[in-house]
Amino acid sequence: MMIQDIMPHKLHNAFQRKEARRENLCFTFKKGKLLTRKRENGSIGLPAFEQLGGDFEVWSKKAVYAFSIDDEPMFLLLEKDFDGKLPEDLSYRELHSLYQAEQRWETLAGVTAGHLNRWYEEHLYCGCCGSGMEFSDKERAMVCPACGNVQYPRISPVVMAAVTDEDRLLVTRYAGRPYKGLALIAGFVEIGESLEEALRREVMEEVGLQVKELRYFASQPWGFSDSVISGFFAKLDGSGDIRLDRDELSEAVWLSRDEIPAQNTGVSITAEMIEAFRTGRIKD
Ligand SMILES: [Zn+2]
Repeated sequence: MMIQDIMPHKLHNAFQRKEARRENLCFTFKKGKLLTRKRENGSIGLPAFEQLGGDFEVWSKKAVYAFSIDDEPMFLLLEKDFDGKLPEDLSYRELHSLYQAEQRWETLAGVTAGHLNRWYEEHLYCGCCGSGMEFSDKERAMVCPACGNVQYPRISPVVMAAVTDEDRLLVTRYAGRPYKGLALIAGFVEIGESLEEALRREVMEEVGLQVKELRYFASQPWGFSDSVISGFFAKLDGSGDIRLDRDELSEAVWLSRDEIPAQNTGVSITAEMIEAFRTGRIKD
């Protein structure tokens, strides 16, 4: 399972014009941290408007509709529009804390709201004429009332490569990032290249290897980096001698199937792909 697998629930992301009600959930962020609520049982969840304290009428008018989970509409209140005094059970937390949310959909909803929030915050002013931008009432976009510039949410494609050589998988660890677990080669697609070209380039840049026989595995939305990740398996083509890019990676090693530790699946496509190889579901 990956972050988007929230069955039996479903995320509906089509644009709608909706008015917030007191019981609707509201996302609001401060410096990238999400306002969360500690429930009586100690679990972390999302607050409803009525749990924010303060003036519902004011905040509900400023909030923008984000998406729905099943039939429940959820809203986003930008940092500049929320200056409430927080009730005791509310606090700002890193988005990663939602990995421990009680419901799987809460993780997807929080991270997706974070993606949207970053984009809105970066488009408060028009990049063409500098005027203040406004929420579109026709689609999910920001529009400039002065010059007509329309901006849509930004989704940056990423490719991820599980490079295999018969019984071995190439695994990596990132340099200078908090995540210390096993990773795979990954990078943003650049202007003017296909997913396959991006993947070959990233593998060459990060570990100096050639690959062949690319096979698409799956994709996942990854709001942490404003991206959607396409995962591919690829076979080593030629020498397996690794030439490490130390700016990007602290380590890259070949592990045989029985050397690979079991991964915590449930959120990331990385763990899903490593597990698919480790358990033999994907062969070289
Ligand atoms: Zn403008």
